Amino acid sequence: MTETKIIDGKAFAEKLRGEIARKVAKLKTEKGITPGLAVIRVGDDPASEVYVRNKVKQTKEVGMNSFELRLPKEITEEELRAKVRELNDDKTVHGILVQLPLPEHIDGFIVIDTIDPHKDVDGFNIINVAGLAVGEDPYFIPCTPMGCLMLLKNYFQNPNNYPKDKVPGQKPLAGLHAIILGRSNIVGKPMIQLLLKEDCTVTIAHSKTANVSLLVKQADIVIAAVGRPEIVKGEWLKKGAVVIDVGINRIASPDGKTKLVGDVDFQSCLGIAAAITPVPGGVGPMTIACLLENTLRAAKCTVVC
Ligand code: NAP
Repeated sequence: MTETKIIDGKAFAEKLRGEIARKVAKLKTEKGITPGLAVIRVGDDPASEVYVRNKVKQTKEVGMNSFELRLPKEITEEELRAKVRELNDDKTVHGILVQLPLPEHIDGFIVIDTIDPHKDVDGFNIINVAGLAVGEDPYFIPCTPMGCLMLLKNYFQNPNNYPKDKVPGQKPLAGLHAIILGRSNIVGKPMIQLLLKEDCTVTIAHSKTANVSLLVKQADIVIAAVGRPEIVKGEWLKKGAVVIDVGINRIASPDGKTKLVGDVDFQSCLGIAAAITPVPGGVGPMTIACLLENTLRAAKCTVVC
């Protein structure tokens, strides 16, 4: 039986935030620049409320300036774009994030494309998406896939964790077969490009894919970003696979309350997977840490890029 390592995203993210805080302090002292992140929230979606609160809190904790714009759900698309343009022109703002989802009457693509690509710390602007798609370095990589990749690279950095004979000099993930479940613009699609860049062989599955479990069985790395509670079972896995669970699903628990679970049935993977991220405490904390990393990069670029 394989002993499954639990990949501690919470600890990794905490360490990353500590490094970011030190770099922020250095940037302030040496260049007089305090990185600033503006978060725009439209309407009163309760899930967005929690996400934005966490982002604001962690932005302040690393010593950055946090600007929060709460806009009414009746705002028009053009009014919202005008707000984005104001932030594009504001020199104290280095990163701009528009919290999704937006109300139905607003086209999210148009709003995101209004963000200056140099301030698009979510990496969703078409310029950044295109940069990633053609294998160039975009200004910013979307935060959740970036966090997944950091966890994977950190794990496979250790040659003992590489499941095959490693060719000397290759990148840490080179030659591994990764399957991504989910093809969303925010997770699945950017993840394809990131893994291709690491010389992985990539399979992508979605809701119309046949025999998903048979495809998963062939993979060294499984990334689940589906939004279906515990859909991936341990018996689907190849022995020794590394599992990154992006899913965040709230379900009823036996005590009558609710609990968070991922897209992977965690318990059934123990003893089969070589390593797995838990939910909560896996990918989730990495997402905000990567947002702060991108904001720091944006601020640094105003002096060195
Ligand atoms: P999404 O936009 O709803 O996309 C879900 C994807 O899963 C779609 O591509 C869909 O296929 C596919 N899918 C649905 N059922 C499937 C099935 N049975 N087998 C294979 N693929 C299936 O979701 P998302 O925004 O990418 O988010 C996915 C999950 O990650 C959610 O639980 C979300 O809460 C979580 N999430 C977590 C973080 C974090 O920071 N940890 C960040 C973002 C998202 P089709 O394209 O065919 O519909």
